Amino acid sequence: MNILVINCGSSSLKYQLIDMENEEVLAKGLVERIGIEGSRVKHTTTGKEEVIIEEPMPDHRKALELVLNALVDTNYGAIESMDEIGAVGHRVVHGGEKFANSVLIDDAVMEALNDCIELAPLHNPPNIMGIEACKELMPNTPMVGVFDTAFHQTIPMSNYIYPLPYELYEKYGIRKYGFHGTSHKYVSQRAAEMLDKPIEELNIVTCHLGNGASVCAVQGGKSIETSMGFTPLEGLAMGTRSGDVDPAVIPFIMEKEGLTFDEVNEMLNKKSGVLGISGISSDFRDLEEAAANGNKRAKLALELFCNRVKKYIGAYAALMCNIDALVFTAGIGENSISIREQICDDLECINIKLDKELNQVRGEEAILNKDLTSTSILVIPTNEELMIARDTLELVEK
Ligand code: AMP
Repeated sequence: MNILVINCGSSSLKYQLIDMENEEVLAKGLVERIGIEGSRVKHTTTGKEEVIIEEPMPDHRKALELVLNALVDTNYGAIESMDEIGAVGHRVVHGGEKFANSVLIDDAVMEALNDCIELAPLHNPPNIMGIEACKELMPNTPMVGVFDTAFHQTIPMSNYIYPLPYELYEKYGIRKYGFHGTSHKYVSQRAAEMLDKPIEELNIVTCHLGNGASVCAVQGGKSIETSMGFTPLEGLAMGTRSGDVDPAVIPFIMEKEGLTFDEVNEMLNKKSGVLGISGISSDFRDLEEAAANGNKRAKLALELFCNRVKKYIGAYAALMCNIDALVFTAGIGENSISIREQICDDLECINIKLDKELNQVRGEEAILNKDLTSTSILVIPTNEELMIARDTLELVEK
């Protein structure tokens, strides 16, 4: 069966068509600037040249229509007709407490998804728009929702509850939800396969270090703690997001700088993190270059980032007693040799010993140490699309 995986953002749409016989990507692409002037589809069918389709796309429905046309195009398409798409898997950011697993989408699920908008006002509405557009264009094709939060629904209450008045949890669902779940699940499962050990017997710490970044403690295949929280703002310092700060800082700066709620939200999400500290860039390639050229704030931003990852690894080692495997994934985790080295530096105290020679890899699966008595350190490129396609296939076949 071929499965179309859709990941809708507010003005973008990423897609992959995967043949589940052999889990091969038949085609993939990206739609940019939906609802904005200059919208276009960048489409690539495996083995053919990339094509760029420039056409006005006022909404997600039009964008999807062009994607489907591209997939069946006689010159640059991957399939002959839409009948060859057996199911669609949609990435959905927030499933609240309602969804601990992926789900076949029906009217009741759509209603529950709408109820989750309040928890993710920026992310869920475009996800829902993508599902609705698909339902209109492919009314007879089954659709599945795969949630970023679902993998973390196994976190025990003592880890997910915030020390705030308990009524806030009951009234508004204020608690830790965690994100990047599909990625943490994929790389932890893959780590067990690479180490040839049953995942049920492993304590794994997965570090998803991209523009958004989070760490997860995976015990016996289940998430028991993660660094992101009620929103994807908590935890590590990120490209532009602050991560953990003393909550008292927020009313303080609102008063001192005369900031509104929206302005302070924007500052914490878009102007903080390593961008805020360095004043240069949120991209780690720029920061590493600037630091190498003596820029002190770029160096400080990188040190702060690595120290935070280190602290979470240490905390999760304490929670699980020991760590069998430490996994690096996403843009920075997969590609930055020096960031991995800085994070693992001086972690012998918790049995983490990186082999600097084996660490010379970028963007491919690798085990970074051979010492069998210490924690295995792995690089695993994440593959959220494949995970979404696998869940979709499983549910549709049921
Ligand atoms: P992601 O959100 O997973 O796509 O990751 C994007 C981030 O990965 C970018 O902001 C870069 O900071 C980082 N990145 C990608 N390639 C490299 C590299 N070769 N070295 C360092 N950082 C990288």
